Amino acid sequence: MATILKQIEDAGIVGAGGAGFPTAVKFDTQAEYLIVNAAECEPLLKTDHFVMNNHASEVVEAILLVKASLQAKYAVIATKSYYTAEVEALTQAISAAEADIELHLMENFYPAGDEQVMVFEVTGRVVPAAGLPIQVGCVVSNITTMLNVYQALIHNQPVIRKQLTITGAVNAPTLLDVPIGTPFEKCLDAAGGTSLQDYLFIDGGPMMGKIYTQNELADKVVAKTTSGLIIKEDSGYLSKLKHQTLEYVFTEARAACMQCTLCTQLCPRQNLGHEVFPHKVMRYFGGIASYRDIDYNEDSAEILQGAQICCACGICEVIACPMGLSPRQVNLHVKNELAKLGVKYETRKTEYKADPMRDYREVSPNNILIKMGLTKFAERHLTEMKRLDVDEVFIPLRMHIGLPSQPIVKEGDKLNEGDLIAKKPADALGANIHSSISGTVMKVTNQLIHIKA
Ligand code: SF4
Ligand code: SF4
Repeated sequence: MATILKQIEDAGIVGAGGAGFPTAVKFDTQAEYLIVNAAECEPLLKTDHFVMNNHASEVVEAILLVKASLQAKYAVIATKSYYTAEVEALTQAISAAEADIELHLMENFYPAGDEQVMVFEVTGRVVPAAGLPIQVGCVVSNITTMLNVYQALIHNQPVIRKQLTITGAVNAPTLLDVPIGTPFEKCLDAAGGTSLQDYLFIDGGPMMGKIYTQNELADKVVAKTTSGLIIKEDSGYLSKLKHQTLEYVFTEARAACMQCTLCTQLCPRQNLGHEVFPHKVMRYFGGIASYRDIDYNEDSAEILQGAQICCACGICEVIACPMGLSPRQVNLHVKNELAKLGVKYETRKTEYKADPMRDYREVSPNNILIKMGLTKFAERHLTEMKRLDVDEVFIPLRMHIGLPSQPIVKEGDKLNEGDLIAKKPADALGANIHSSISGTVMKVTNQLIHIKA
């Protein structure tokens, strides 16, 4: 493995903006394009904005190193024209470094940051359904991941802290820089707490983040992939999404889906030419007695397999459906059931073409905020990053795609901040994990390592 990839692997870098794919594995290739995702398209999240405004030169340095490693012809930072200050900061950093890096400016739509949408926006190429950007010559990496790459390559620093947006119904909304493994409760306290009696919280952005009840807050800690914490009263649309049972989702689908096809028309993956047809999946469930009765056979395969390539962006559910139904959750259920059956997605296409109407079907982030009752938090200018240090962390052993990391410390061990505490399993996808504070190991379980200062 080349030195740069080894340094990235040693530092435990995984995709900071999404599912946590190990970055060294992603970069272990050659590509025509290196595309840096700076769209931060989830409404209300602001940490990538902060990186663009405050760390543009470091990011540019990392991009040049990775571009050389990939032997890429083009390096492109894809962001939104609407982020004027960020575009200015990036332009200046590129110019100061005389770097051969392009800026690709997109409209303000959701999901501009979806990897496959972004590849199409930048190159005009469509990543095959269930495929990877490298199949069309591209590697896509988030801008905060590139900052972590800079820290690893230039300062030999592993990933031990995470920058978050703490917003919604909190008393002092803020950007927060915290050690990995910090309890969410401490993050909420650092943002002044909330005055709400009953609330929900979103771990991540409003669309792709997970919704939890306040009782679940105590169980959650900051991982390498955590992007934000949004507090919201337990009422309205998000409350319905959180509390509806699967039984209810399917009963409602059977009773109320009028087959208008809007869910399919607005689906960003469908608009890239992928065979995702949420309205057909909804129709399928209209014809069976229970959601437990999925019969995967020759006739149903084409419809049901469409659910396997749904990226769960939520547009069909939050924006498209005039009946308030949940095609996304129906798709996710089908996806899980087919995974249990061991069904692998098989494309029926040899060529993908984006829909000519695609540009007219872009969804404004403002419409998302209106639907979710979050508009009142939209105009906040969160530009200061507050540092939070804590005296105890609970570091999860799985914060990435692949197998859990293997602990190499035991109860009672003394650690310095940055020490390696769990290793990527040999010959398997995974990531190293380091201690985010100095202290003593209190407990090691299959799930986490507890360290106290
Ligand atoms: S969640 Fe809905 S809109 Fe998004 S990819 Fe899946 S089917 Fe398409
Ligand atoms: S948008 Fe709603 S009502 Fe229309 S086909 Fe899709 S699920 Fe059915």
